[in-house]
Amino acid sequence: MAGMWLGSGWKMTMLRAETDAFCRELDAYVRQHQPPIELFIVPAYPYIGQARSILDSSPVRVGAQNMHWEDAGAYTGEVSPRMLIDVGASIVELGHHERRTLFGETDAMINRKMKAAFKHGLRPLLCVGEAVRMEEAEAVAIVQGQLRGALEGVGVDVLHELLLAYEPGWAIGTGGEAADASYVTGMHAALRQLLSDLASPETADAVPILYGGSVDQHNAERYLRAQGVDGLFVGRAARRAADFIALIEMAARLCQDEG
Ligand code: PEP
Repeated sequence: MAGMWLGSGWKMTMLRAETDAFCRELDAYVRQHQPPIELFIVPAYPYIGQARSILDSSPVRVGAQNMHWEDAGAYTGEVSPRMLIDVGASIVELGHHERRTLFGETDAMINRKMKAAFKHGLRPLLCVGEAVRMEEAEAVAIVQGQLRGALEGVGVDVLHELLLAYEPGWAIGTGGEAADASYVTGMHAALRQLLSDLASPETADAVPILYGGSVDQHNAERYLRAQGVDGLFVGRAARRAADFIALIEMAARLCQDEG
């Protein structure tokens, strides 16, 4: 496994001033403490460049929440991989539950975006997850189908660049219910097994699999201690820098205990 990962996803929430304050506080903390955690934030498109310039020489990665698969062209309202790179994004979140359910993104569309991300050297953060609660075996079939669909025709030689987030739709956002850590372990194992079958056990081990869905200061440690969980992708509970930093400190303590 390649380190522990923590990401803060902002959706359509934070404006310029909030982006500024968050990034400055995070930057100062990371400079001073150099936590042994792989960190990323995912602002809305208009603030990616601003976040990147505040985090200029910081190891914190800045991601985008979506993109189109084409390099350029007549696609009004869309943003291309080249544009994301141009403003300093290094990660692109693809296949989030809201993109799939509110904006009709299909596995085929996500697959085209995945190929474009790999082609341009953007690290895809592929989100998979069953939309509603169901038997674990059914959920496994769904998330494995989403992963297989997203990776259709993708060469195994680039898979070590993949970041994967397991985010059950029923667990994320307001009204979401955090999943049991043991359930998350089972789902991550199923995803890793598929990666192993598609590529190799070594590649599967190299892909960080993050859990997301109603993670907060109280339950985060439980997930980070769970087998097969390489990190967390956090929404509401990490949209203030102080809250994100509290999670980073907790993860850093765990790394220290284990190391
Ligand atoms: C999300 O929507 O990706 C997410 C993880 O949200 P939250 O942590 O707020 O449930």
